[in-house]
Amino acid sequence: MKYCSKCVTPETAETHEFNSKNICSVCNQIEDKNKIDWNERQNDLDQLISIYKDKYDYDCIVPFSGGKDSVFALWYLVKKKKLKPLVLRFDHNFLRKTVQFNTEKTLNKLGVDFINFKPNFSIVKKMMIESLIRRGDFCWHCHVGITAFPINTAIQKNIPLLFYGEPSAEYSSFYKYEDIEELNVEKFNKAINLGINAEDMLEMLRERYPKENISKKEIEPYIFPSQREINKNKIKAVYLGNYIPWDVRKQVEIIKSEIGWQGDIVEGIPPDYDYEKIECMMQGVRDYVKFIKRGFGRTAHLTSIDIRNGRMERNKALELCKIYDGKKPKALELFLKITNMTDNEFHDIVEKHVVSPHQPPSREELNKRKSNIKPKDLEDWIEKF
Ligand SMILES: [Zn+2]
Repeated sequence: MKYCSKCVTPETAETHEFNSKNICSVCNQIEDKNKIDWNERQNDLDQLISIYKDKYDYDCIVPFSGGKDSVFALWYLVKKKKLKPLVLRFDHNFLRKTVQFNTEKTLNKLGVDFINFKPNFSIVKKMMIESLIRRGDFCWHCHVGITAFPINTAIQKNIPLLFYGEPSAEYSSFYKYEDIEELNVEKFNKAINLGINAEDMLEMLRERYPKENISKKEIEPYIFPSQREINKNKIKAVYLGNYIPWDVRKQVEIIKSEIGWQGDIVEGIPPDYDYEKIECMMQGVRDYVKFIKRGFGRTAHLTSIDIRNGRMERNKALELCKIYDGKKPKALELFLKITNMTDNEFHDIVEKHVVSPHQPPSREELNKRKSNIKPKDLEDWIEKF
């Protein structure tokens, strides 16, 4: 398998392309990030804000998880841009204790209104199984829910401006850094919904569970509006990271000192990266699936970002990947309990989605690669379901 000669991303990474020097497209994009005139972008942001500020019940909507990026975006918009946002959270059902704590703390410190929506878990569970079988990715309910809920609320409440945090050019090549990315139907279909819209999902679930009479109402939180509706309601959903240079490590320092935001340990990640993906109990399982399919995990993703920012040597990154990536996570027990699958059934499904030329380790080998990181809240979770 071919690896980027600069970072540690292999050719199986979605959307990454390699040039003749074997450098991946994300590494090239990040070089472009430094060529952007960020003062000009800052002016664009101020201009954009001036169009919407003080004209609606809220100046904007901030989709929020309690993780590092949305907390930073919210802090920046409230403290630096003096906006009055409505904060929205689609609760994917696996939010961890520390994230709940961070959420309370952020809301208290910043003084903002907040709506949390937690969808019916019995449907979530079915969607997890369905999207794992169809796409080798059990997170369809989350990708789609966190995207559809804020934009639908924006339409219902007439709050047309939405701010997401990091731009996708930071870690994938769906968009280039110089693009001003917006959330619209095109982006939703290209980069978010795994090629399955909510209506398709409803049909799939009805087919798999014919006796359960699943109604359209039950998948409503996952329906993304049409482009016509988006245009008619003048929705503008943008990414803050297109207007200010996104630097996760610096931003984490800011939210830790300004808000008291706390990190946590996550399976498959060196403890030094205590800020990454702490919002989901299933993260370790998600990254393990990715390792089986594509041959790399979150440590490769994180160390690649550090290499691009001149904060790590490639050899050190390779060493960390060896230690942390692709270790069988303890949270797999929770996943199997929820989905009522056996370990073998789970691996049978995931192995159908392996991306060539990667060849996953044998089951025997995978069983030997056990994670020794145990999130302290895992036992509570296993009991909960
Ligand atoms: Zn690269």
